[in-house]
Amino acid sequence: MQQALEALQHSKYGSLWLDSDDRPESEPALEEDVVCELLVVGGGFTGLWGALQAKERRPDLDIILIEKTFIADGASGRNGGFLSSDLAHGENNTEYHFPGEEEKLAELGKQNIREMLATFDKYGIDVHYECVGETEVAVDDAAKADLRELYEEEKAAGEDVVWYNQEEMQKQVNSPTYKAGMLYRNGLDGIVDPARICWGLKEVLLKLGVRIYEHTPVEMLKPLGQDKMKASCPNGLIIADKVLVGTNAFRSPVRQIRKSIIPVWDYQIATEPLTEEQLKAIGWDKFHHALGENNNMFHYYRMTKDKRITWGGGGAVRYYYNKNIKRRDCADIPERFEQLAAEFFETFPQLKDVKFSHRWSGIIATSTRFCMVPGHAYDKRVAWAVGYTGLGVGASRFGARVALELLGYDPTDILDMQFIKKKPMPWAPEPFRWLGVKITHAALVKADKNNGKRGLWLKLLDKLNLGFTC
Ligand SMILES: Cc1cc2nc3c(=O)[nH]c(=O)nc-3n(C[C@H](O)[C@H](O)[C@H](O)COP(=O)(O)OP(=O)(O)OC[C@H]3O[C@@H](n4cnc5c(N)ncnc54)[C@H](O)[C@@H]3O)c2cc1C
Repeated sequence: MQQALEALQHSKYGSLWLDSDDRPESEPALEEDVVCELLVVGGGFTGLWGALQAKERRPDLDIILIEKTFIADGASGRNGGFLSSDLAHGENNTEYHFPGEEEKLAELGKQNIREMLATFDKYGIDVHYECVGETEVAVDDAAKADLRELYEEEKAAGEDVVWYNQEEMQKQVNSPTYKAGMLYRNGLDGIVDPARICWGLKEVLLKLGVRIYEHTPVEMLKPLGQDKMKASCPNGLIIADKVLVGTNAFRSPVRQIRKSIIPVWDYQIATEPLTEEQLKAIGWDKFHHALGENNNMFHYYRMTKDKRITWGGGGAVRYYYNKNIKRRDCADIPERFEQLAAEFFETFPQLKDVKFSHRWSGIIATSTRFCMVPGHAYDKRVAWAVGYTGLGVGASRFGARVALELLGYDPTDILDMQFIKKKPMPWAPEPFRWLGVKITHAALVKADKNNGKRGLWLKLLDKLNLGFTC
């Protein structure tokens, strides 16, 4: 632990992605009463993509986007930047919750990423995208056997996968913990700088005439007459025909949203830029693999453009009692970062002298189906998409599309899918929810220590397809 403490000693608290001279100034807060056709609540990916896709569908639409703090302050400016075409959190989860829709969801996911990248090209948004797929590594024998089985299945299904035995994997990235690895070269999946997506979209929206107010929380959202909605903010009212809510893990002004998700805290650290010598010591200088372990409490880690490693997940992930999201209580907990740093050095002992420049945390919205939950209220005057769990960088653009279509902006046949129509099981009330998550967390950690062997509790959850936490 001493090594972890020392390495974190001079780190600053705050997302690496947001710590850039390219970060734009905030737009002023709302200070008057205003009227619009579409109000978008939340300045993360869902809100920003929602406003842009609305403009693409209806160029003359009068849109206001409102953000409680500043654009990208939520999960969208704090995530790992793994861009995946997966909309429903893995094949098993998709098969279990949406049988018969696997192929359609896979195609929609790929189309979503194609359109996303085309948008970046169209508007000249540089998000530091690298098409590197995703590489899963096995760090114990049971995980290696599981990974091999998965590889055989993927290969048989015609997926573009590469198997690395231990020696081959360690030539790609050299960790003594690796037993094997598998690279998914899944179409356009890769890594991005997430804050740059938000900043680029914000700039485009302003150019297209969207009014953006930052530092303006919506405190209350109520129907007004038969066909309008009224949003109350500290210094102004907004009257809108329709409202798209993209508040994800935060306490939402819409009660139905609050019931469908829980906020799970995830912590990350970033190293200083690695020297050539350090890069060579871990062999990660050839190809920028986006890495994650295939065990329960997995880490996800990748290389940035300026050759830092960002490192998150692992044993530090937490749900706090009664959905606590008070940042001062949960955001900067030294033990979480010490644990992350210690786990980093177990993976890369060659980097024993490396220091961490940043440490930060963010809130993941998790539903009981571990993927997006769309919904609507007030005769479809309000719609939302929340709960992407750990895979929202790509899926949130699709979520925004679904919410727009639910509001009646050029709906398509996707609204007939169970993926959209089926309601998720609600989370249990406290204290059962907290107890359930706590017991599951402990069981997952135990299984990882026990060569992947799952106890009775996890086997039961597996039967119900409720076996993971982030
Ligand atoms: C640490 C971490 C790592 C992750 N890593 C990955 C990854 O590598 N790949 C991946 O695909 N996904 C990842 N995710 C998930 C992904 O970041 C999210 O799913 C995605 O950013 C959700 O976007 P969003 O716009 O819905 O939510 P957010 O980005 O959280 O945006 C919601 C916004 O709403 C605002 N808001 C809330 N309430 C109000 C209100 N009342 N009035 C006005 N504004 C309000 C908030 O301030 C916030 O800015 C990660 C998440 C975290 C936290």
